[in-house]
Amino acid sequence: MGGNSPCASCKLLRRRCIKDCIFAPYFPSDDPQKFVIVHKIFGASNVSKMLQELPVHQRADAVSSLVYEASARMRDPVYGCVGAISYLQNQVSELQMQLAVAQAEILCVQMNHESLMPPSETDLHHKSYLLQNNLSQIPDFNTPSNVIHHSPSPL
Ligand SMILES: [Zn+2]
Repeated sequence: MGGNSPCASCKLLRRRCIKDCIFAPYFPSDDPQKFVIVHKIFGASNVSKMLQELPVHQRADAVSSLVYEASARMRDPVYGCVGAISYLQNQVSELQMQLAVAQAEILCVQMNHESLMPPSETDLHHKSYLLQNNLSQIPDFNTPSNVIHHSPSPL
């Protein structure tokens, strides 16, 4: 850049694009709108200062972040990027609530299903074991001692 083809910034600011123009690498003349919105929101001198404070390898990322923020602020002058972020955060918490409700419903359905299902094999083993144990504890009324107890006393 530089020389006779000024970068988008210098073209808009109507100044000569010098060899080391700080804007030139990030605001090429074929995409003038990028600088228009950044200049409108932040001001060219602020953008220049911000870029000067950054190491060269971070400037491209800073410019795309400034462009993103500026276009968000054009669409939503009050909230800018924050508008999009809080919209998405609301969506996330709404979906988390829906997920929790769905998981609770699944649990309810599973529990109802289990109570209707015939007992599994392990349940059967467990029950028959209990049954046997209970039976062995039931007193046997046919033993002689019981017969004696229950027989009517002679008059
Ligand atoms: Zn320039």
